[in-house]
Amino acid sequence: MTEIQVSVTTLTEGVDRLTLPLPTGPRHVHCYVIDGTLFDTGLGLEPPAWRELGIERIAITHFHPDHVGGAELAARETGAPVYQGALDYVQCERVWGSRDWPERIADWFLTHGVPEAVSYELIDAGHAFASFVRFAHDPNLLYEGSEVAGWSVLELPGHADGHIGFLRDGVLVGGDHLLARITPAVGLYLESRPDPLGDYLASLERTAELDLRIVYPGHGEPIEHPAARAREIIEHHRERLEVVEVALAGGPRSGFDVSRAVFGEELPPQQRRFAVAEALSHLERLVREGRAARTGDARTVTYTAP
Ligand SMILES: [Zn+2]
Repeated sequence: MTEIQVSVTTLTEGVDRLTLPLPTGPRHVHCYVIDGTLFDTGLGLEPPAWRELGIERIAITHFHPDHVGGAELAARETGAPVYQGALDYVQCERVWGSRDWPERIADWFLTHGVPEAVSYELIDAGHAFASFVRFAHDPNLLYEGSEVAGWSVLELPGHADGHIGFLRDGVLVGGDHLLARITPAVGLYLESRPDPLGDYLASLERTAELDLRIVYPGHGEPIEHPAARAREIIEHHRERLEVVEVALAGGPRSGFDVSRAVFGEELPPQQRRFAVAEALSHLERLVREGRAARTGDARTVTYTAP
């Protein structure tokens, strides 16, 4: 595997893309500097020379570690104010700023059928990881319709509940809302919005109708046909909903059971948790469409065909 180095690419006049290495997943994340605004900050593990990039303000698309983890340092180095979605900041504090999140999320996965060994294995790693994620405290909060340096804020829930995009002249800085080759993960989590996939499908419909020229994403290449890509991802989830529906045949199934049917039986613990969250977002959508029913109580949740 080739090591990704920190690099800056000028995509078009005034649009600089900063590519930072990631230890996992797509192995890289992009930040953008456009007219003095830095969009997203990477994980913060190998920070670039923030001071040399002409940054006047910092805007965050969503609280996932590879986007928000470098914010505190970037803000300190540049003196720039930080802007973040209001709901996103609440979730950012809950996940990265609390002492007991790894325990609480592990318990929550148990209710969805994940075995203790898998769920509890990640508690220590969760605490260790949280200490690396240095988000910026008390940012300026953004809402649908807020303006930052001529960019309008769009709330685009789905990949994260509080995910926002920044729109100006047909250009969307989109974080992980729309990616060219990867289908962005959409999971249900403890204390998340109740129907993240429904949110996401609506955000994609909205994106398809925006008449965008280009989307600058957090991973991969710029998206030059955003409406077509949005429709492709909608179709992907329609198909996956059918697969999940089929997995409910023959009796009550937990989120864990469905994740095994859809994503395979052998997955390392972290991947399993993503798979369960993804299965649950589809199951909850099916419930809302009348194609599945949720049963159980606070200790065990299962789904059945209606
Ligand atoms: Zn993300």
